[in-house]
Amino acid sequence: MNIILLGPPGAGKGTQAQRLVDKYNMVQLSTGDMLRAAVKAGTPVGLEAKAVMEAGELVSDDIVSALICDALDALDADTGVIFDGYPRTAPQAHSLDTILSERARLLDHVIELEVNEEALVDRITGRFTCANCGTGYHDRHKLPKSEGVCDKCGSTEFKRRKDDNAETVRQRMVEYRAKTAPILPIYEERDVVTRVDGMADMDTVTQSLVEVLEG
Ligand code: AMP
Repeated sequence: MNIILLGPPGAGKGTQAQRLVDKYNMVQLSTGDMLRAAVKAGTPVGLEAKAVMEAGELVSDDIVSALICDALDALDADTGVIFDGYPRTAPQAHSLDTILSERARLLDHVIELEVNEEALVDRITGRFTCANCGTGYHDRHKLPKSEGVCDKCGSTEFKRRKDDNAETVRQRMVEYRAKTAPILPIYEERDVVTRVDGMADMDTVTQSLVEVLEG
């Protein structure tokens, strides 16, 4: 199964993708994660992407589509994939069609997480993750049970994304509205889109996704 999770920054794509990975043995392909890894490693892609990401703008279509190709080619043909944060523009959506058909993969579902934009800045500006295991936390909504210690792995190292500040978030929203939301009609025409209420609590959202996948 191949699915796309669509939604603005902070809609919960990464969190929900991780839950589906745990439940279904699928693989999450997040171009944001790949780009952050490239920035950290100082690769040519990372050097090119760094300033663009910090400004909340979009990295070039060619770069992200190449990352997706490489990531897919490293997987077994029958491993299910959750695309998280890709495609984000119409050219990327068209590239993905080609990329999938060249690999005999079908797109099963496009799931849009619908959220109230007012809530997103609050969600994003408080979030942080365990530097060791990646468990997500939030300054106002979900602190570790024991202060400064990850609930899941006990690590005391946490990290925050550099682009999770109010100013950059607003630019990321602008990009979403201008370039990503307009790709939905491409998929609506194919009858593969389901909308899920991304404002519900996390377990309810996961349950709705499970219903779509198993429906
Ligand atoms: P994300 O982790 O999905 O929020 O992505 C973080 C940042 O990485 C975005 O604000 C963009 O600068 C860049 N990025 C991630 N995925 C893409 C993509 N598919 N197309 C262009 N830029 C991307």
